[in-house]
Amino acid sequence: MTETSRKPSNNLAHAIEQAIQSGPIIQSHVCTFCGKQFARESTLFVHICEPKRRHGQRDAVGVRIAYTAYADFYMETERNPKTYSDFCASQFYNAFVRFGDYCVAVGTIDSGAYSRWLIKHRKRIDKWCTDRFYDEWLTEHLREESLAIAIERSVIRAQDWASEIDTAPSEYFRECASNVICSDILKGATSPWFLYAAPSGIEWLENINTDQFKLIAKLVDPQHWEDRINRHRSDYVDMRTILSNGGF
Ligand SMILES: [Zn+2]
Repeated sequence: MTETSRKPSNNLAHAIEQAIQSGPIIQSHVCTFCGKQFARESTLFVHICEPKRRHGQRDAVGVRIAYTAYADFYMETERNPKTYSDFCASQFYNAFVRFGDYCVAVGTIDSGAYSRWLIKHRKRIDKWCTDRFYDEWLTEHLREESLAIAIERSVIRAQDWASEIDTAPSEYFRECASNVICSDILKGATSPWFLYAAPSGIEWLENINTDQFKLIAKLVDPQHWEDRINRHRSDYVDMRTILSNGGF
């Protein structure tokens, strides 16, 4: 082989070597979340890093609650709108996700309203998953909540209960165990608005024992609800008619 015939071959080998070391093949397989480079697309595809994992979690219920709370927090304290990418990079990502998961586990009735209350009362993020705070907020919230929203949620709870035992939702106060109804009231699933607007609800309240009443007394406080009913008399009468006609 002559010197001239070897030259093109050497040039080609050099070009291939260059392409492997710094060519477009390697640069095109870069993790956009952490910046790590991969020789193969398939390796990038199965690659998992913490930023990529966080982006992939964005549709999980707890993470959605967490991001809403995070964005609300920065709007409220700094008037600073935050994107989901900001959230993923935040040092407080895990703390907010813990809060989101807590809301899912507890079954909070309005996680957005609850986190805004925590922000407004300047509760530290590491204390957000505290049952005492949730109870405090829930008691305040249920006393001020609008009649329509409260009744809608309560009827959904009655429907869920009815579908479990294959009966009519209107039988909730007549057939559901009183301890279960007390628990529903304590969790906010069944609102005092519903209790006082449904004829069968008032009847149930009159017939529970002293211990059961003591358990829910703070939430069903008759004096407070008499005042509320008087302030919203027209809406209350309309709702009472609707519930009565529906057999509640
Ligand atoms: Zn990555």
